[in-house]
Amino acid sequence: MDETDVLELIENYKNIKDRVEYVSNKFDRRNVALVAVSKTKPVEMIRILYEKGHRHFGENYVIQELIQKSEELASLNEIKWHYIGSIQSNKIKHLASVKNLYVVETVEKKEVLDKFAKSWDLEKSNNTKLNIMIQVNTSQEESKSGCHPNDCLELVKYCVEDEKCKEKLNFLGLMTIGSPNATEDQPDFKCLVECKNNIAKNTGIPLESIQLSMGMSHDFEPAIEFGSTSVRVGSAIFGDRDYSKKN
Ligand SMILES: *Cc1c(COP(=O)(O)O)cnc(C)c1O
Repeated sequence: MDETDVLELIENYKNIKDRVEYVSNKFDRRNVALVAVSKTKPVEMIRILYEKGHRHFGENYVIQELIQKSEELASLNEIKWHYIGSIQSNKIKHLASVKNLYVVETVEKKEVLDKFAKSWDLEKSNNTKLNIMIQVNTSQEESKSGCHPNDCLELVKYCVEDEKCKEKLNFLGLMTIGSPNATEDQPDFKCLVECKNNIAKNTGIPLESIQLSMGMSHDFEPAIEFGSTSVRVGSAIFGDRDYSKKN
């Protein structure tokens, strides 16, 4: 990266942070987190934002990227990795061993909860439980991951009630990927909010404690308006992704 690239990255980052803050204030939303989605981008870029005080980064390839990056950046002690990719059963052990893994946002079934509960090492993580988000397929498109909106209550209950799960895992909230051509009334975001309300109503979990991870580069502003507490922004910070260079 040359100097212009560095300046551009920092400017994009500041611009997105400002926009997040502006919309949060406008709609009286407090503490909306910004997750910088660094997938396919070099560790150098992550380092630059870390130096600017940023801590939350999102990745979605366990083996190829997250493991490698977390090792290369092991000295950045306060980094908080969000895993936002699809979960293959045979990679869960690997994923659970990633240093500074903060949350797995894409859990969609009980078996995956069981496996994380089994793989998570409480001692190694200073007695901190692994944060879990349940991904909901709010648009119910077949191609999309996530559980059916009607099934998320049961999954959350399992996460907070099952002996093994509750010992190792902390239910943090719900996640969805909005439809890229959503209408202004944002049915995906509304659906996730309804799921959250339903969970609070039917469990002892306080409504305010349930986080919602929704909103990406093209729709983080409406997402905040509709109640997102954590937006995942990639290309608007790091620039377009070039998948052709990957091997
Ligand atoms: C890549 C990705 C993002 C970021 O997408 P942008 O459009 O680049 O902001 C957010 N969430 C998930 C799950 C992703 O895979």
